[in-house]
Amino acid sequence: MKLAVIGTGYVGLVVGACFAETGNDVVCVDRDAAKIRTLNRGKIPIYEPGLEELVRQNRHERRLTFSTKVKDAVRRADVVFIAVGTPTDEDGSADLKHVLDAAREIGRALTGYAVIVDKSTVPAGTAARVREVIAKETRHEFSVVSNPEFLKQGAAVEDFLKPDRVVIGADDARGAAIMTDLYRPFTRTGAPIMVMDTTSAELCKYAANAMLATRISFMNEIANVCERFGADADKVRQAIATDRRIGPAFLFPGIGYGGSCFPKDVKAIIKFSADKKYRFRMLEAVEAVNDAQKQRLLERLQKRFGKSLKGRTIAVWGMAFKPRTDDMREAPSIPIINGILARGGKVRAFDPAARTVARGIFGSRVTYARNAYDAVKGADALLLVTEWNEFREPDFVKVRRLMKQPIIFDGRNLYDPAQLRGLGFTYNSIGRP
Ligand code: NAD
Repeated sequence: MKLAVIGTGYVGLVVGACFAETGNDVVCVDRDAAKIRTLNRGKIPIYEPGLEELVRQNRHERRLTFSTKVKDAVRRADVVFIAVGTPTDEDGSADLKHVLDAAREIGRALTGYAVIVDKSTVPAGTAARVREVIAKETRHEFSVVSNPEFLKQGAAVEDFLKPDRVVIGADDARGAAIMTDLYRPFTRTGAPIMVMDTTSAELCKYAANAMLATRISFMNEIANVCERFGADADKVRQAIATDRRIGPAFLFPGIGYGGSCFPKDVKAIIKFSADKKYRFRMLEAVEAVNDAQKQRLLERLQKRFGKSLKGRTIAVWGMAFKPRTDDMREAPSIPIINGILARGGKVRAFDPAARTVARGIFGSRVTYARNAYDAVKGADALLLVTEWNEFREPDFVKVRRLMKQPIIFDGRNLYDPAQLRGLGFTYNSIGRP
């Protein structure tokens, strides 16, 4: 099929490359001309494992091209994906400006029947709004489909090529049939394609993210209670994870969730529920717990060093909101680093992928270390913020030698408390004695 993908970010680029990989002819469009120039030079503007190779190969086969022109891409497309951002608006709702702008442009460019797909995460009822906007611009027939995306950054290509399930929200049979054909190559191992109405499909994405965020906040509260009793949250986690009704995923206590999805999607569901006069009390608590959890490492620094960090150097390992991405949207590292700077401390930070993004946020207020060991040089404390694999087994003897004071605050429970104390560190983690 001929596809157009409007919005070439973390989602649009993966969607475009993966559909090209199954033999479709894909044009990825973005209004950010610099991004398109980078892609047309064969480079990718983000860090995502496996993506650069997939893009390179499909560009080479001429199945994947990049453009800034919505009109050229849509004119020849059977299916048009809207994969633009839906950031949080001032009132907590998802800002649909980009989605509706894209819909308007698509409507103007249609030259015949096409399926228009909401791939962006959008509130219940958005498909109807998109349909209205397009109908104002064209006399051609079209279907609007809601097809929420469940990929995880850091494993996005793998998730897209081997989905747990594909959700297709369609209010007409023609659109549903085309989408089912398009996704068939990805579901040969038996993953279901679930067809439903557009509004239910829109809610699937919010329900999934809200559930995952809830598990994280729940486990963080268990950890906070464990700390008060001297219990070990890790032992509690392992025990409850063996209950098949609970399972092991998303049960790790830490310093709160971040990223471009959970915070904004939890806010959005609270807001669109409130718009229908329903107060989603549980998610209000999930959000409040998460905000508090992001302060935990700063609280620990204050307990150890007092209110002022003047004259102190704090090393930070990891700035991306999670490992295997360079994305720092809503990353816990941001309030933590800003908090240290506000208290007069110096920050030496290292992240394997997010250095350029971090520079855009903190500028020259932070020293960007060349590697993990360079970051701890002369540090009064080390904060483990993002659990990249390369932080799992460092040479602790070297770390201790390089630090001014051997103090580690581990925000991800990566290390063994007994081992680190044995090596002479003052070690503190989340919910463990
Ligand atoms: P992103 O910010 O990385 O990318 C969005 C892109 O759209 C940007 O490059 C921007 O320049 C472009 N854009 C905006 N308006 C445009 C327009 N009118 N025409 C052309 N290009 C336009 O965002 P993302 O992380 O890829 O997320 C996109 C959507 O997918 C969001 O709704 C998000 O919630 C959802 N989603 C994201 C993830 C994820 O892991 N990032 C996972 C599932 C769903």
